[in-house]
Amino acid sequence: MTTTRIIGAFARYALAHILFGKPVSPFPGHSLARIGLLSIGLLSFGMPLMAAAATDDEKQFAYGVVERNATAMAKIGDSLYYFAELGMQEFESTKLMKEVLEAGGFTVELGAAGMPTNLWAHWGSGRPAIAIVTEIDALPEGSQTPMELARKPLVAGAPGHMEGHNTHGGLAAAAAFAVKETMTRYSIPGSVILSLGPAEEQLISRPYIVRAGYFKNVDAIIYLHIGDQSATGYGLANYASISANFAFHGKTAHGAVDPWDAKDALDAVELMDAGAAYLRQQLHPTYRMHRVITNGGVQPNVIPDLAEAWWWVRDANMPDAKETFEKLVNVGKGAALMTGTSVDYHIVAAGWPQLGMKAIAEAIQGNIDKIGMPRWSEEEQRFARELQKSAGRPEVGLKTAVTPLGGRPQSYASNDNGDVSWSVPAGLLAFPSIVPGITIHEWHAAITPTSSIAHKGMVTGAKVLTASVLDLLTRPEFLQRARLEFDQAVKATPYFAVLPADAKPPLDLNKAIMDRFRPEMRKFYLAERPRLN
Ligand SMILES: [Zn+2]
Repeated sequence: MTTTRIIGAFARYALAHILFGKPVSPFPGHSLARIGLLSIGLLSFGMPLMAAAATDDEKQFAYGVVERNATAMAKIGDSLYYFAELGMQEFESTKLMKEVLEAGGFTVELGAAGMPTNLWAHWGSGRPAIAIVTEIDALPEGSQTPMELARKPLVAGAPGHMEGHNTHGGLAAAAAFAVKETMTRYSIPGSVILSLGPAEEQLISRPYIVRAGYFKNVDAIIYLHIGDQSATGYGLANYASISANFAFHGKTAHGAVDPWDAKDALDAVELMDAGAAYLRQQLHPTYRMHRVITNGGVQPNVIPDLAEAWWWVRDANMPDAKETFEKLVNVGKGAALMTGTSVDYHIVAAGWPQLGMKAIAEAIQGNIDKIGMPRWSEEEQRFARELQKSAGRPEVGLKTAVTPLGGRPQSYASNDNGDVSWSVPAGLLAFPSIVPGITIHEWHAAITPTSSIAHKGMVTGAKVLTASVLDLLTRPEFLQRARLEFDQAVKATPYFAVLPADAKPPLDLNKAIMDRFRPEMRKFYLAERPRLN
């Protein structure tokens, strides 16, 4: 160990102790004593503080770890692609991730917060604690033969990775491992965590993980998602959402013989629909409200005693979404009153909009700018244009420039990670593994998640992620600023749980589909069990 390294390590330890000093939570109050200590710390460790920032040496070392694991990372992602497991059924996927992470030195808990496919991996000790947060679930009917431009499922009707969440697993594991190796090599104090939440596609798990307190001792997170660009952002990134099933219970009768004895549950569903249509004028202009009728009875001459509709309410922020949802509940009660039926509802999923901290975005952007975009080959650019052409999109090829910070509009989509971002300061990172113009949740997007395009984007993303986690671990000013921003945001809009206190995660979600297709899908599983080194 060089002298600089020893001084750097000591300074970090001292700073970590002053700033995070166990057992006190990070940045508790702003007592004079603590500010005094901090000033003394800053004065006396002025020089070492400079050395305490993640140095180029440390980042170069980390990039070396990522590069030598590029093949392993790709194989992990490819393995998850062929598992193609839907939310709450990620059993093979999390088994592989657990093996990889344990072999890489992490302590892995499977089953956290009451969900068997919820994975929480941890390495190191104490603060600062930085978590990488992502997911690895697939989508129904997304099965497709990789690199095949025509529609050709591997298994007809089976799930598949038509959003590329498979790449998240390889990238996140390699980045967490590279952070761990760098912390070990340079004696950087703190903890690195990897949280893989189940069933992101149905916005299920994160409110449960937050409720179980898993993020209480985490100082910041970086949420990772595949994209067509290397980008970050801050502020409200997407929409709040509440989804609920409304069930109307009536009384059945013959549609011709004694209809006057009936209480038609389907009438109630339709009247709720009509009531909701009238409600639309009195909602915030940013609202979204959509529904399907999941049970409308069996046949017309049997008046249905049960009818159900699945409603989805969204808005630019959670208080407004909740206000709209409460109005919708009243519309449902009114429909029940009009028809003499009764109504009950249960919230299927609820997620806050993702909130990104500018301080963390600036750290991430610094690394995005330094690392740049992958060097695409002529062959990759040609394939990208062919794919764009076959999907009816502009033939623009792959992006060659990183996306500057700012200017990204709030998306109307939702992600259950939002709840995490209202519980702990968050950064958001997109990495360039998707062909631009190819929309996710559509089979064209399942063509490339095992391609060299995806693999190169993963290496780029893993370097940005690793360097950004190192910055958060070694440069207290990022965490301090992020915490101040976060405190202001949650003061303006305090977080509340939308899930009822007694809500339980739907563990059987997607089970029937996976049970049906898994035997055929199993034939495509890759034999190799990749390892990081
Ligand atoms: Zn996603």
